[in-house]
Amino acid sequence: MPATAAPRIDRLSVPDASGHFGPYGGTFVPETLMAALAELEAVYRSARADPAFQAELRHHLSEFAGRPTPLYFAERLTRHCGGAKIYFKREDLLHTGAHKINNAIGQALLARRMGKKRIIAETGAGQHGVATAAVCAKFGLQCVIYMGSVDMERQALNVFRMRLMGAEVRAVEAGQRTLKEAINEAMRDWVTNVRGTHYILGTVYGARPYPEMVRDFHRVIGAEAKEQILSREGRLPDELVACVGGGSNAIGLYFEFLEEPGVRMIGVEAGGRGIRRGEHAARFAGGKLGVLQGCKTFILQNPDGQIELTHSLSAGLDYAAVGPEHAFYRDLGRIEYAFATDDEVLEAFQLCSSMEGIIPALESAHALAHGCKRARALAADKIVIVNLSGRGDKDVQEVARLLAKRE
Ligand SMILES: *Cc1c(COP(=O)(O)O)cnc(C)c1O
Repeated sequence: MPATAAPRIDRLSVPDASGHFGPYGGTFVPETLMAALAELEAVYRSARADPAFQAELRHHLSEFAGRPTPLYFAERLTRHCGGAKIYFKREDLLHTGAHKINNAIGQALLARRMGKKRIIAETGAGQHGVATAAVCAKFGLQCVIYMGSVDMERQALNVFRMRLMGAEVRAVEAGQRTLKEAINEAMRDWVTNVRGTHYILGTVYGARPYPEMVRDFHRVIGAEAKEQILSREGRLPDELVACVGGGSNAIGLYFEFLEEPGVRMIGVEAGGRGIRRGEHAARFAGGKLGVLQGCKTFILQNPDGQIELTHSLSAGLDYAAVGPEHAFYRDLGRIEYAFATDDEVLEAFQLCSSMEGIIPALESAHALAHGCKRARALAADKIVIVNLSGRGDKDVQEVARLLAKRE
């Protein structure tokens, strides 16, 4: 990026005091939730400034989740792609299989601080549900997970995992019977039971303070990666690549680098079967400004403002809206966005498995597909870090089915 084009960034001043990321974000919820959101924000701000809370969080991230995760040099993939060095940030090695546990631990500790003993959460692919069920078991909290009945069928193994860890999984039968409907149901539960219940939202989305709070619980990803690349290579990376569903693993990696003008950042959305209405989930390649489930942001919608159907082979990226902080940094030109199609993702999934001995989550394979393209476009002395947000064990059955269909 030429120096003149680099926007001035003050990452700690985002969001502003009203919970806005420029024109995005805000608090679009029923009045009955305003008191609970205000309480959450107050408790979060006091916890963030409390060294004892931070020490306890670090302790659980280390002992329960398995942090720090390695920064891994993907030597054979680097040679195959042919260009810049490719490193993986290994969030796939975390307990329960993805970065989601960083946020689940943080919010469970906040629930305890608020004296709330009942936890609810939404889940699509089931990864956030599994992370939430795990922390609830560990901290002795009651746990109810809302999940669309279509997703429950597609992700039966994760449903079993959650139940094994003591969670009650409630099937949602409305609408498309997937993630969006599960969030609606979780919000309805929260409105009804708000006094003793905390809602652990799973990404950098929703009403204030969720986008900022969830981001802060994932900042550890980039903080570690920065230290690791400096000690390994003696310099900062040239590019960071991460997949973007709501956007939590991506902003978690980017945050510590936002004020480093030499580091280019690219978020990769789900291109599905291509950029045609209803065939993808690339909000920046067809979305418009709107309000959905608590915040104002880029949303895939039809001309009447109804939420568009989405498609991706990876359930974790299959959502019509994107976190407000991403929309903000895209406007500034600080973060760029691309997409990977289902076909490119399947190829990257197999390539990473066979070349590195690492089976990536289908979500992470979006970042891999684009990361390989970027590496190829760069010289051999450049460095690209790809966020490996999760492992692919949950996806092997689905991939086997998709590959069999092609033969
Ligand atoms: C949930 C999930 C994602 C998408 O969520 P973000 O908030 O965009 O990070 C990506 N990768 C994996 C492995 C996930 O489980």
